[in-house]
Amino acid sequence: MEAEGLVEIAVEVDGEAAEAVAELFNRYNGGGWVEDSEAGEASGGGAVIESTGYDDFGDPVDGEYRLAVKTYLKPGRRGQKIQRQIEEGLWRLRLLYPMPEPVTRTVKEEDWAHSWKRHYKPMRIGRSVLLTPAWEDPDPKPGDVVVRLEPGMAFGTGLHPTTRLCVAALEDYVTPGEALLDVGTGSGVLSIVGAKLGALPVMATDIDPLAVQAAKDNAERNGIALSGESMTVELGSVPAGQEGRYPLMAANILAEVLVGLFEGAYDNVPLAEPVAAGGRLILSGILEEKAEMVLMAANRRGMREVGRGQEGDWVALVVRKDDGA
Ligand code: SAH
Repeated sequence: MEAEGLVEIAVEVDGEAAEAVAELFNRYNGGGWVEDSEAGEASGGGAVIESTGYDDFGDPVDGEYRLAVKTYLKPGRRGQKIQRQIEEGLWRLRLLYPMPEPVTRTVKEEDWAHSWKRHYKPMRIGRSVLLTPAWEDPDPKPGDVVVRLEPGMAFGTGLHPTTRLCVAALEDYVTPGEALLDVGTGSGVLSIVGAKLGALPVMATDIDPLAVQAAKDNAERNGIALSGESMTVELGSVPAGQEGRYPLMAANILAEVLVGLFEGAYDNVPLAEPVAAGGRLILSGILEEKAEMVLMAANRRGMREVGRGQEGDWVALVVRKDDGA
């Protein structure tokens, strides 16, 4: 529309501070590109998380690994108002978390749409999964499980430690021919990895319609048919009417949300309900200090810890439902 470009606000942070900054960006600048008819201007976009500093094998390089949380604003009155709210919010967050000053600059709109691609390279995660951007041509080793993603703006490029922890857990727990449920699928990454490891059928859900579309597109890109027999993607959270159907389930959301989901706090079907007796639930998106809180919520629903992974400050838990024997 206008040639002035977009205002980028970027903060380089890690761990809990990154989560808080992303939450702030989503709060003030979320909800997509909102046309404001009165002001005749547009704003929107949410948080974009970018990480850099990987070697050719997709392993983070010590001292070079960086996480930047960014958001983009359209110029104009509305954009300026949001920018002020964000700057005030960041100022308050800096009282809680040590973090650098935000860096603000103007970028061209096309640069914004493509900027994340520069940082997104084929990446080996778990033992055998090679996550690769759809436009790259990786060189897989025999036995590699190649998963091609065009994540768009939906979370789940594999760049985030919480996703990598889940992929590693899927490698341990997927049984070919058994069903998998993925709540909060984002780009669809975990469902696609699960399907490629042999999970059948796979059901993915997300409350964000953009994620649902991205997950469907990514499934197709990986040659996975979207049908009840192989994989389905639905708008929503924990699906109803599926009690005890899934020997394996994954939810990479955030600790607080997971606890709420266990308790049915969002008027939702309780998180543990679809898990089969003796089945496992992979929980991720959990900062180390919040692991106990999530574990207690799982325990209250008859699920005990059987596995745990950690990368930096992030923890993934695997809990198992009592088999009632
Ligand atoms: N599974 C992907 C994406 C994780 S990001 C990965 O591992 O990389 C978390 C996703 O959960 C987001 O796409 C968000 O829209 C979704 N989400 C947040 N709250 C949710 C809820 N209550 N129920 C279902 N999905 C939710």
